[in-house]
Amino acid sequence: MSDAGQRAPRPIANDFWLATSGDDLTPRPPLREDIQVDVAILGGGFSGLWTAYYLLKNDPSLDVLIVEREICGYGASGRNGGWCSPRFPVDPGPLKKRFGTTVARNVNIAQQEIVEEIGGTLEAEGIDAEFRSTGLLSLARSQQQMEGLASTLNTYESLGLGRGNRLLDAGEAFDRVRATNIYGGLEASYGANVHPGKFVRGLARAVEGLGARICEATTATAIRSGADAAIVTDGGTVRARRAVVAACEAYLTEIPGYRRSLLPMSSMIVLTAPLSEAQWRDIGWHGGESISSQVHTKNYLTRTADGRILYGSRGASYLFGSAMPENAIRDEPVFEWMRDCVREWWPQLADIPFTHAWGGYLGVPRDWLPTVDFDPDSKIATLHGYTGRGVSTSALCAKLLAGLIGGRKSGLEGLPIHRPRAPRWEFEPFRWLGVRYVQNAFARIDDAEGARRRRPADAGLAEYLGEQ
Ligand SMILES: Cc1cc2nc3c(=O)[nH]c(=O)nc-3n(C[C@H](O)[C@H](O)[C@H](O)COP(=O)(O)OP(=O)(O)OC[C@H]3O[C@@H](n4cnc5c(N)ncnc54)[C@H](O)[C@@H]3O)c2cc1C
Repeated sequence: MSDAGQRAPRPIANDFWLATSGDDLTPRPPLREDIQVDVAILGGGFSGLWTAYYLLKNDPSLDVLIVEREICGYGASGRNGGWCSPRFPVDPGPLKKRFGTTVARNVNIAQQEIVEEIGGTLEAEGIDAEFRSTGLLSLARSQQQMEGLASTLNTYESLGLGRGNRLLDAGEAFDRVRATNIYGGLEASYGANVHPGKFVRGLARAVEGLGARICEATTATAIRSGADAAIVTDGGTVRARRAVVAACEAYLTEIPGYRRSLLPMSSMIVLTAPLSEAQWRDIGWHGGESISSQVHTKNYLTRTADGRILYGSRGASYLFGSAMPENAIRDEPVFEWMRDCVREWWPQLADIPFTHAWGGYLGVPRDWLPTVDFDPDSKIATLHGYTGRGVSTSALCAKLLAGLIGGRKSGLEGLPIHRPRAPRWEFEPFRWLGVRYVQNAFARIDDAEGARRRRPADAGLAEYLGEQ
């Protein structure tokens, strides 16, 4: 894959997933010509790769080219927590309120089914992404959180989706994961865990096997629409006979015309060294479920296949103008706070070494709902806005989008994600003021709840502004 004189990808600081993917990370040759294809895709993450995959599965004769600025998996797809989640980005309660029972139910079923489909596809394509059907375990670490979980279960039941979900009392939950302050939990028997590096790199190879061309180390500078639809890059212009697909999630906000379509939000991860068998016996967590507690600042914990604890959280603050520099997600005080969180969950791991820490950017739509659209007149297609659930939702959206581009029914057309656009985020400085206020308030609410203090007086306002 190497090419003489080609630049190396920008390293992801202290990356774990790509480094352990077992794949050759030398960039594929960049684009060095003007070219015309049927479908031009911007972005070599899950969205771009799944779109190419479903397009070519539907119609192997299509000519598909993907341009990627660094290497496939450089973005969030190669940096995430490994949750292949059966939970849609909008929770069932708000979804039901906005779209009614039938739609909320259909969305949740589609999301659950796509997790199974991903597992099946990985197997069929021979991609060993360590896909494990572990299920989810949402833990309550306060009485308030326990009430929240009970209400979530009620909503699932009201949608006819209660099966596979069960509330655990404090004793049962503690038996599953022996952490401090466990008040109970909600288990879901479906949902999976993956090695994101092996997944995204394997998918790229599968897509090439189906006939797609991938140009890495190629930066898109603009998207053109209409008769002249194209991705303009630093190595040449990719004109598209049928569609130009914008598939770069948070990075979409760097492309002219898309700046307020999403909010780039950082998420950060710390990773321990592998625990000993005795430490695992002490902690439990034998099912390797994807676990979280119900804090406002969010957390997600994964037991990796090689026996480490991955602790992720939305850590770093939003930056003015939706800036997304790499150095902002290598924020050592935030990493240290996250390491303290692990030690607070499991004081018996006070001396466990942490080997890796990294961050990435995910994309948050103004109304939390992903968007999938193809306009045959402008030839512009897009899929984005998964917040922190894109490992599975990107495949769902790509399946729908590939059907729209190829004129082939996927059965997903009626879902509310199929829409021309999401509401735009506010202009600055209002965006910065609003988001920073909510981030700050959520941290204060978590601190107060953690210390069993009264919630801040503005908790209700912050929750109204910042939650779906
Ligand atoms: C730290 C972290 C943890 C997460 N944890 C989870 C999780 O556990 N479960 C879950 O479901 N979701 C999680 N997410 C979200 C999930 O990873 C993303 O939603 C998903 O990977 C998005 O895939 P994508 O292909 O749309 O975008 P990306 O993976 O970001 O891919 C976009 C690609 O476009 C390329 N690109 C950008 N600009 C240009 C340009 N100008 N020219 C050419 N190429 C360009 C980038 O280099 C990148 O490779 C997490 C995200 C982060 C950051």
